[in-house]
Amino acid sequence: MNETSFLIKYAEIAIKGKNRYLFEDALVAQIRRALKNVEGNFSVRREQGRIYVDTKDAFDYDGAVEALRHVFGIVGICPVVLLEDEGFERLEEEVVSYVSRVYGEKQFSFKVNARRARKNYPLESMEINARMGEKILETFPNTRVDVHHPEVTICIEIRNQINLYSVVIPGPGGMPVGTNGKAMLLLSGGIDSPVAGYMIAKRGVSIDAVYFHAPPYTSERAKQKVVDLAQIIARYTGPIRLHVVNFTAIQLYIYEQCPHEDLTIVMRRYMMRLAEHFAGECGSLGLITGESIGQVASQTMQSLAATNEVCTLPVYRPLIGFDKQEIVEVSERIGAYETSILPYEDCCTIFVAKHPVTKPNIKIIRRDETMLAEKIDALMQEAVGTVEVITVTGN
Ligand code: ATP
Ligand code: MG
Repeated sequence: MNETSFLIKYAEIAIKGKNRYLFEDALVAQIRRALKNVEGNFSVRREQGRIYVDTKDAFDYDGAVEALRHVFGIVGICPVVLLEDEGFERLEEEVVSYVSRVYGEKQFSFKVNARRARKNYPLESMEINARMGEKILETFPNTRVDVHHPEVTICIEIRNQINLYSVVIPGPGGMPVGTNGKAMLLLSGGIDSPVAGYMIAKRGVSIDAVYFHAPPYTSERAKQKVVDLAQIIARYTGPIRLHVVNFTAIQLYIYEQCPHEDLTIVMRRYMMRLAEHFAGECGSLGLITGESIGQVASQTMQSLAATNEVCTLPVYRPLIGFDKQEIVEVSERIGAYETSILPYEDCCTIFVAKHPVTKPNIKIIRRDETMLAEKIDALMQEAVGTVEVITVTGN
């Protein structure tokens, strides 16, 4: 019998009591979502503190594993053989055929790790380990036992059905999306913000996003790149409502009215204000940015303080202490990097001053903004009124 199910491992330590059910419900929901477009007939079930994905008929194995590798909360994906209890000798035969199928003639060290969750099983775990170990040694002369550092651990769990597995494919860890509220990601076309969104979502937070678009200074392709990045993150987070805000008029007005060295900071303050507006509409409880201390002029401690001043929601900046190289590593690992480095301009590069302030004085920034009094409210309202919302599903 082949592996027709996956045993899903998740970290249980932090989730006792009532929270455990919320966690498991959310995990089951996310697994179903992830498998929705994979070829095959999958059903997800919960049993005795375990989650199984069962399959019927033929299915796309690689596609299923790939989908499950995007589900936060999963620490291990184990292709498992589920067996009825038909006595120990029958179990020995099944284990032999399993080892032969999965490892063939390979040379490897192993140990058997039996767990008797059903206490009425006639053999104790230690006896199962010893007898099954012997059987494997005897049948496969290329193998040897190593109880401390085995290359292969053959797990045999005696439950209602017997679970037989030895392969654990790592999952992304974290907590299932949907267990920790929602936040609004300021998503640009760069490397940093997709990683920031990924990291917060990994803590169980659902994500919506906002992108500030400045046509004709930024192209349709730049916008499409952001949609593509949202799509990549949505594979992990589930559907994202991406708000595309036309920011051109606001940027031009700031450009006209304010000293150019302060442009970036003033612009960023308006981005935050608008992001907060959409966060309120979506029930988001915080904002997320890809900022990291000192990376550029607008990310010095002084600049961050000036940007932060206009926010009333918490602003989550998960990359704040990361070096660029560390950010790039995550970006590559999650599959965003190739898209992030495509060379389309984002709106900030058009309006950047030659010598932006690196230590903005908040009082001066506030004074700059008084010069926008005449039109800024109307322009903000227009930006809100003309927002385009694109829902990406990740599938
Ligand atoms: P990224 O790599 O994410 O583009 P960056 O290094 O280019 O970041 P900035 O341009 O200073 O840094 O932007 C800082 C943060 O502000 C970004 O990580 C993002 O969260 C947000 N942001 C910047 N530009 C935009 C935009 N056009 N639309 C939405 N959010 C933006
Ligand atoms: Mg950028």
